[in-house]
Parts: sequence; C-alpha cells; structure tokens
Amino acid sequence: MGILDLIFPKTCLSCGKAGKYICENCLIKVRTLKQACPYCEKPSIDGFTHSKCRKKRGLDGLTSMWKYEGVVKNAVHAIKYRYATEIVQEICGYFVPELKKVGAQNLVTGNSHMVPIPIYWHRENVRGFNQSEEIGKIVAKEMGWKFVPDLLIKNKSTKSQVELSVKARKENLRGVFSLNPIYKSSVLNLRSVILFDDVFTTGSTLKEAAKILKSNGVERVWGMTIAR
Ligand SMILES: [Zn+2]
Ligand SMILES: [Zn+2]
Repeated sequence: MGILDLIFPKTCLSCGKAGKYICENCLIKVRTLKQACPYCEKPSIDGFTHSKCRKKRGLDGLTSMWKYEGVVKNAVHAIKYRYATEIVQEICGYFVPELKKVGAQNLVTGNSHMVPIPIYWHRENVRGFNQSEEIGKIVAKEMGWKFVPDLLIKNKSTKSQVELSVKARKENLRGVFSLNPIYKSSVLNLRSVILFDDVFTTGSTLKEAAKILKSNGVERVWGMTIAR
C-alpha cells in the first residue's frame, strides 16, 4: 500500500466499490462513441473530417472513445484536480485497448508524433502536472508513437470554453498557442501529429492547436481525446 492509498483509499469514483478507481461495472454504463467528424460532429468513417467540412489548417480527423459521463467523467475530473498516477494508469489500461479496437494505429501512418495540449505554466506550477501530458505519455508509449510533450507552448491562461459565446471563444483562444522555438527547424520532419487532450467539448482548443501546427509545416493533424 502506497502513501496515496492512505490519503485516497482506492474505491470506484462512481459507485464506491473497493478495489479500483474505475470499476468495470461502471465503465460498461458509459456509452462508447461512434466516431464522428470533428467539425459537424456527425458520424464519419474512422472519425475522418468530411471533405465538405474540411478547414484550411484544420483537424484531419478525431478519435474520441467515451461519452463524457459517469465514471469516465469522474476519473477525468479527479485527474485534473489532484495528482493521481494510478487513475491515469487505470484509464490508459482501458483506453489503449479501445484505441486498438477502432484501429487507431492504422489512422496515423509513418512517422507519427503525439503532442499533448499544453497548459499554462502558472497553473501547471500550482497543480504540479498536466493531465493530458500524463495520459498522453502512456498512450504514446503503448501505441508506439513518439511523444513530444513540449512542441506547443501555451502563452496565457484561458477561461473554460464551455460558457463562452462563439465570438468570445475565438477571442479567448487568440494567440494562446505557439510553436516551441527549439523545434522551429525540425518541425517539418514531424509530418503527422496526433494532438491529445482529455476531453473534446467545443473542439476549439484542438482546432486552434492544429492551426498553429499546420501553419508551421505539419502536414497532418489528428485529434484524440478520452471523451467527448
Ligand atoms: Zn463502480
Ligand atoms: Zn463533418
């Protein structure tokens, strides 16, 4: 038993059953998603952006696994607000096999790099870690993708996109990401990037990050999230 087990006894984050943070019974109740276009959010094969929905410098597709509800929502929430390595490991233990089931390893061809959505350093300092980086690191390793946690830099703190109007969202995200200058000369070798975030809500964060990557020469950008 580790010190964290004493502070947070390991019980299901949804039903309270002892043993795991995410019990199988509660996970079964969470709906798995049909893959959908990241722009119109209507079904599309393997999550590819429909040709009529394609945006210049936009996402080429999206893979999201679960509806943001139930024990998945509780787990993502718990990871966001406290340091919880074991919850990260449990969620990856369920997420990676699902990714393989939907053939995510075939969606990204060749030299693929997984890049997590960064958080603003000030917030990161307060909480000690970036949940998308912690989850992405394990997913990348299991899927055999190179992991580049610092390709993007977040320049300012942002408000939660959910409560904002479309116009305010755009304003909120303006200039928020930039390419880490240490990659300026090598970014062209990063042909294909999988942008990882924990949850796809409005999608505007992933889309803004895709725009920065493509403006800097990345050819293909695929979004990937645990939940939507
Ligand atoms: Zn449970
Ligand atoms: Zn579409």
